Amino acid sequence: MSGRKGNPYVVRPPTAVLTRGFDPRLSVGSARPAVFRSSTYVFSSPEAAERAFAIALGRARPAEGESVDLIYSRLSHPNAEILEDQILPLEPGARAAAVFNSGMAAISTLFFTAGQPGASFVYTTPLYGGTQHLVHQLLEPLGMRGIPVAAGDTAALTAAIGAAERLRLVFVETPANPTLVMSDVAAAAEAARRRPEPPLVAVDNTFLGPCFQHPLALGADLVVYSATKYLSGFSDMLGGVVLGRDPEQVALLRGTRAILGNILQPDECWMLAGRLPTVELRMNRQSKNAQRIAEALADHPQVARMRYPTRFTDPEQIRIRDAQCRFPGAIFSMELRGGKAAAFEFLRRLEIARDAVSLGGVESLACHPATTTHSELSPEEMRRCGLGDALVRVSVGVEDWRDLLREFRRALDAIGPGAAS
Ligand SMILES: *Cc1c(COP(=O)(O)O)cnc(C)c1O
Repeated sequence: MSGRKGNPYVVRPPTAVLTRGFDPRLSVGSARPAVFRSSTYVFSSPEAAERAFAIALGRARPAEGESVDLIYSRLSHPNAEILEDQILPLEPGARAAAVFNSGMAAISTLFFTAGQPGASFVYTTPLYGGTQHLVHQLLEPLGMRGIPVAAGDTAALTAAIGAAERLRLVFVETPANPTLVMSDVAAAAEAARRRPEPPLVAVDNTFLGPCFQHPLALGADLVVYSATKYLSGFSDMLGGVVLGRDPEQVALLRGTRAILGNILQPDECWMLAGRLPTVELRMNRQSKNAQRIAEALADHPQVARMRYPTRFTDPEQIRIRDAQCRFPGAIFSMELRGGKAAAFEFLRRLEIARDAVSLGGVESLACHPATTTHSELSPEEMRRCGLGDALVRVSVGVEDWRDLLREFRRALDAIGPGAAS
């Protein structure tokens, strides 16, 4: 964090995430946060209630350091406040956060807050399946115009941002799921700033953040997470987070959240607060595991192509990777010889890694995107983003990588010529 040099008491993120956001004096001295399940909060005075509503409804702004009474848990509650403060040091440049009851809740709230009928937004493709559905099934019928740009095409991205009419939002997902193609966040932010009325630039940072990629530091305004994935890390809860450089923008999202009713609930906030201190440990281990496995499998005769950041060959992809990522992350996608039949045979033989969608948990998962997570894409969309039916996506967990490598090798060896077609 940039303040560290000037202020010796500002600590580094792994320390801050254990010490921020929570005051034991507010929980009878409990060393870890309590869970506050109340739906409503008792006002300290009628004047305090009046003041809290004026601030909640945007008629007044809180003074520096003012403590405002809580109102009702759909607006906010203590466990959300603790988490929203605790998570800030993990995302360099973030000055405010808002938590949601899923990644899709965070993304929909962002689009509904930024959008207006007649407005347009630019987005990279392929997008996460749920976001893709949101764009085509909800936003476009409401009169918003989505402008797709292929992930990794920096010239097309900056041209689309420059040319779009009434552009309100640029939504970048990098690396793309499941092709792992990277898009240039700094170039998108720069193109947005060149417009007379700059649109917001938001990055879905679920795959590499918060440890390996920092979009706010690259110039983005907002970062979005599915906390269901690495942030929580155990495939046992749903959650979403948006972090921003400008607290006013995050306050607007909280306002929409209060009406949509999609704030993260107290128990889940408490769970996620307990998981954040280990996210760096887990992600480092998972990324190292994945790198060893992806590199060892890349030359297997059954693997036609290994998609993983350390295996990039396109100079533009290498440039973006080196400019914006610290480590390659824990997801690789393999295109197998033998198409869909080979992919299914591979998945059928796995025992340690399970055939399931989702990613980012401590356990390894594998899936076949073309028939599951991305089955809503048209054949033309699939072709354009390079997603074929030979592709298997693997999310690597914290197991001993040698066990996983042996399992994947055996499964590949066993596919055999029967699957080739
Ligand atoms: C899972 C995921 C989402 C959606 O998050 P949920 O918590 O499932 O709603 C959005 N973007 C990406 C990249 C994801 O992997």
